[in-house]
Amino acid sequence: MSDGETVTVAHGSGTGKTREFLEESVLSRFGGDADGDLAVGLGALDDGAVHELGDRSVVVTTDSHVVSPLSFPGGDIGRLAVAGTVNDLAVMGATEPLALTCSLVVEAGTSVDLLEGILDSMEAACEEAGCAVTTGDTKVMGSGEIDGIVINTTGVGVVPRGEHVPDAGISPGDALVLSGPVGDHGITLLAEREGFDIDGDLESDVAPVNDAVAAALDAGTVTAMKDPTRGGLATALNEMVRKAGVGATVDETAIPVRDSVAAAGELLGIDPFDVANEGKVVFGVDAADADAVVEAIRTTQMGADAAVIGEVTEDNAGRVVLDTGFGRRYLSEPEGEQLPRIC
Ligand code: MG
Repeated sequence: MSDGETVTVAHGSGTGKTREFLEESVLSRFGGDADGDLAVGLGALDDGAVHELGDRSVVVTTDSHVVSPLSFPGGDIGRLAVAGTVNDLAVMGATEPLALTCSLVVEAGTSVDLLEGILDSMEAACEEAGCAVTTGDTKVMGSGEIDGIVINTTGVGVVPRGEHVPDAGISPGDALVLSGPVGDHGITLLAEREGFDIDGDLESDVAPVNDAVAAALDAGTVTAMKDPTRGGLATALNEMVRKAGVGATVDETAIPVRDSVAAAGELLGIDPFDVANEGKVVFGVDAADADAVVEAIRTTQMGADAAVIGEVTEDNAGRVVLDTGFGRRYLSEPEGEQLPRIC
């Protein structure tokens, strides 16, 4: 029982409060252990579910997009709704989406031109990702009953049985590879809301990155993947080590951050490691394959700055150690909700 507690924005932060809510209220009802043909279930809190069917596995993921403002430098809610779901499928190993659903919830009074612009951008993102919307739904709520537009997308992908990639698969000695600079999406959104942009060069990284994931999978042994969305790189790395029961050491100077993002982050008091990315992937990679995987990712559109950022360790289990070049500290997850409606 909740003792009359009400939902707060922290419940949707993707970090501690969300995890508490999921464990107490959702997993207690639906999160039974994976068994039989369910290889990855809700209890794994991974980026999607994996159902085994004969010699293939079906990967399913879903996400609701509530970003504000609806359009921002580098993208809009439509592009985000496609990329977010395509990327969650990709980091489970399903780099060729079979189908996407699109469920629109729209506030009465919304301009049809605006809605069509968002659908145009969904169409373009689908083309980039090589997928299509194959079923959907439209609901309209009264003016003031919802703020603008909410888009839910569900993605379905198929991989050969046993070839999905969990986020918990890293083991000591693995290299940690990052596909590009972090912080762009979260910092851009916040700067946009605060009404400033340093020299106008902040831009969200929102993009489908299934091509970068496919290139990485082709180039070497990938042991784990996660897209560092809500809670940013810090949250993704902490989830990966916590689930695998290992530690990690990460070299801060190896983590790419754009100058504009670092500068805006400093002004806003936000660490680029703590905020959402919408076109990035963290990989655990067999150390022997790390250079080959980085090279492969660098050949893709969003992967030019891919780098090895650290390694998985046996010690410091459940913790991420950040080597700053001057000393070492734990890289912890951001607490609570700093940036609601970021994705
Ligand atoms: Mg994800």
